[in-house]
Parts: sequence; structure tokens; C-alpha cells
Amino acid sequence: MAQPNIQDSLVRDFAALVGAEFVMTGEADRYAYSYDAAALPPVMPGCVVRPGSTEELGRVVSLCNHHGVPLIVRGAGTNLSGGTIPQHGGVVVLTNRLTRIVEINEEDLYAVVEPGVITARLAAEVAKRGLFYPPDPGSQTVSTIGGNVAENAGGLRGLKYGVTKDYVMGVEFFDVEGQLIKGGSKTVKCVTGLNLPGLMVGSEGALGVFSRITLRLIPPPQSARSMMAVFASIRAASETVAAIIAAKILPATLELMDNFTIRTVESFRRAGLPTEAAALLLIEVDGHPAQVADDAVKVEQICRENGSETVTVARNAEERNAIWQARRDALPALAKLKPTCVLEDATVPRSRIPAMIQALQEISREYRLPIGTFGHAGDGNLHPTILTDRRDKEEMERVERAVAAIFERAVALDGTLSGEHGIGIAKARFLEQEVGAATIGYNQRLKAAVDPKNILNPGKMV
Ligand SMILES: Cc1cc2nc3c(=O)[nH]c(=O)nc-3n(C[C@H](O)[C@H](O)[C@H](O)COP(=O)(O)OP(=O)(O)OC[C@H]3O[C@@H](n4cnc5c(N)ncnc54)[C@H](O)[C@@H]3O)c2cc1C
Repeated sequence: MAQPNIQDSLVRDFAALVGAEFVMTGEADRYAYSYDAAALPPVMPGCVVRPGSTEELGRVVSLCNHHGVPLIVRGAGTNLSGGTIPQHGGVVVLTNRLTRIVEINEEDLYAVVEPGVITARLAAEVAKRGLFYPPDPGSQTVSTIGGNVAENAGGLRGLKYGVTKDYVMGVEFFDVEGQLIKGGSKTVKCVTGLNLPGLMVGSEGALGVFSRITLRLIPPPQSARSMMAVFASIRAASETVAAIIAAKILPATLELMDNFTIRTVESFRRAGLPTEAAALLLIEVDGHPAQVADDAVKVEQICRENGSETVTVARNAEERNAIWQARRDALPALAKLKPTCVLEDATVPRSRIPAMIQALQEISREYRLPIGTFGHAGDGNLHPTILTDRRDKEEMERVERAVAAIFERAVALDGTLSGEHGIGIAKARFLEQEVGAATIGYNQRLKAAVDPKNILNPGKMV
């Protein structure tokens, strides 16, 4: 039986619509959808529904609205801001049966997909046709395109290729009444009506439910070169990031790992990382072979001028993969150290990275907490990661204060609360600090206008 705010008649309606086997009301099933990848307490949904077609998805939305029941749409649940926790109970709607790649258009360079398509699957399918879908969140082997668009996910290639919003050409979504709304198009240019794709990217399931997304594809780079630069001080590494950007070189990827993260990753996989290094920069330049050769030389030179002891260039695909695997291991390796892993994504203008790194070191000392820092340094997007144990109340209070201090410092440095993980539940209380009360009021009026009963992912973002 569904609990606690779902009427039996609604469950029967769902079952008649999608089939009884795709409506879950048992306690174990509901528990499985009470949490996501954020370190936040779980909240049980009333029931879980898995529509099998976009038409069914639209009907599920209108049924929830008719009954005034909260609806939380969920892709893979990998978000790190509590975006899929059913804070007010209600219905969790899964998109994992909506996995059709409807079209890959090689003439006009776009793909049309359903929201439950796994990011890496799309990337692989377009690669088979000699095309490239660049957004590559670290979670890409499980995360969905619907979740990526709703969070405006970034990835390792964000510096040069941008983030999900740069690839969204069109969206189709259900409004709260289950009507199909369309924004954008398959054309390169489109200024018809309001910029609905712009509004919906990053809307975290609070303004509508995606049913189809049109994504821009591009030709892949002809060649790439990856390198690893070793630094004896994290300040030197962070100054190097700023120097590479200031030299007007745009690597595809420019990632930072501090000593704590290096040691943790090394004991996780034994990849041969220099555990004595204070920091590493993992860099990839790509493009035309001549440009790549030129950029690689300049990057290496800038690294050495800024104090890098060694710069190792990958000689083949195996060595290149090893570099990127080390980066991809950072979060899973850190997460294994302690029961609770609080991963933040405070982001600052690139020139402010050295100041932000210094702030993180001060915060780590002041609150007596280990903070592993890694991230997309080339975007100014750092992932300070605090390892803790939610059961230790005293330490968790320090963690809360440290997190608040991290955001305060980031905003003071002209930065932002979130580079890519969204606001969700996790950061709602810091929002006013960055945007002010009037902006929150504007967001709330917008939300109230499109969702008067406040059923679409209530309690999130604002
Ligand atoms: C190991 C790891 C590495 C990560 N690395 C990165 C990274 O490099 N870059 C990055 O940006 N993020 C990263 N993330 C965070 C996360 O993977 C992204 O936010 C991702 O976009 C979430 O996709 P998802 O399918 O899991 O969405 P979910 O977590 O299921 O949902 C996320 C939000 O989208 C909404 N949503 C989902 N589907 C729809 C839909 N059809 N219509 C409307 N709203 C919808 C949900 O309601 C929710 O608010 C990482 C997470 C993990 C665990």
C-alpha cells in the first residue's frame, strides 16, 4: 500500500495507465528512491512510477497535478544536491524506460533523445558515426540526459567545449497539466518565442518534465595530447592554471588534484601517481595536430615557468587513459575513506583560484577537517570534499560551518555556489547570499505561475 500522502485511487489510476508492475508501493522499493548521491537524510516517497512512453509520462504528470500530489522526476539519482529526494513525499517518476535515441542526424549534426538515455551511451552512439557529444560528467556511465539537462551538468571538457546548456537546441516537456510544450528547434539558429530551452536547462525538475531533448553534435577533434604536471606546492599549481588561461591557451581539460586526493587515489588503484607531490595538474590539449603540438609545448613551458618539477606527456592511448582514470577515481576513492562524503562545487573566476585554494586551506585548519580538493580548475570549478561521519554530531556541526564558510569565500571572490551540481536542497539556504532576496522572489513568482499547486519537485532550489 502506498504511503502516506498517496490515495489508493491514484495508485489504481497509475496501474491502469502504465501497468501494475511499473507502480511500486512496497517499503523496500520506496526506500530505494528516498535518497540520491547527496549526503542528505532520506525521505520516503509515497510511491514510485515507471512510465513506458512519453505519452504515459504526460498522463502521470497530469494525474499528480489533479490530485495535488508532489512529483519528483528521477533519472539516475546521481545528483549531488538532493534534487531527487522527495522532501514532501509524493510520487517519484522514473525515466529509466524512456531510453530511445530517436534520431542521430549526421547531415545537420543533432541528436533527438528521450530523457532516460544514459549520457555515455549517447556519446558512444554518436562516436560510431564520427561525431562528438562533448559533455562528460564524471557520472556519465550512469547519469541520464534528462538529469544532465535539468542540472546543466558539466564535465572534464567544460573548459573548451562548454557544458550541457551549450548543446541543448530544443526541449519538449510536459507542463504541470500534462500538456506538451516545445521550445527551440533543430535549426542552428532559433529565436521563436521565449527562450524556453534556456529557462528549462538547470530547472532541476521544478518547472516541467522533459520528454524529448534535441542536442547539438560537433565533429570530434583530430588529435589530442594529455600530460601530467607535478608541483611541490598547491599554490604554484593553482597559479599555473591562471597563467595558462591568461596566456590565451584553451586546453580541452585542465584538472587539479591536491596531495590528499593524490594519495587517496593512489591507494585506491596503484596507478603510479607521485604521492609526494603537493598537487598535480592533468591537462589535455586537442584540435588540429599542428595546433595541438604548439599548445602542448606552450603549456609545458608555462608549467615549468611556474614551478612544475616534471611534466609527463602521455605517449599512447594507454598512458592517456591512465591519466584520466586517475582523475575519474578521485571521487570514488575519497568517498571510500569515511562513511559520509560532502562534495561541494564552489566555483570562482579562474584568476581567483589561488585565493580560493588558500581559503580552503584556512577553512580546513579552522574547522579541523580534512578537505580533499580536486576539480575542473580550468573552469574555476573546484570540488572541495570533506570526509566525515554523519553520526558524529559535533563533527557534522563543524562540517556545516565549514561548508557555509566555503560558499561565503567563493561568493566574496565573485564566484558562485554551484558550477555544475545545482542547488537542490543542499544549497537553498545559501542562495540569498549570492543572488539577493529580490531574485529569489522573482524565481518564486515564476515557479508559482507555471506550477500553481507547487507539485513539481517542491522544496527545491528556492
Ligand atoms: C561519481 C559522480 C561524479 C559526478 N560528476 C559530475 C560532473 O563531473 N559534472 C556534473 O555536472 N555533475 C557530476 N555529478 C552529479 C550528477 O551526476 C549530475 O548532476 C547529473 O546530471 C545527474 O543526472 P541524473 O540522471 O542522475 O539525474 P538525477 O539525479 O536523477 O536528477 C537530477 C535533477 O534532474 C531532475 N530531472 C531528472 N530527469 C528529469 C526530467 N526528465 N525532466 C525534468 N527534470 C528531470 C531531477 O528531478 C533532479 O532535480 C557526479 C555525480 C557522481 C555521483
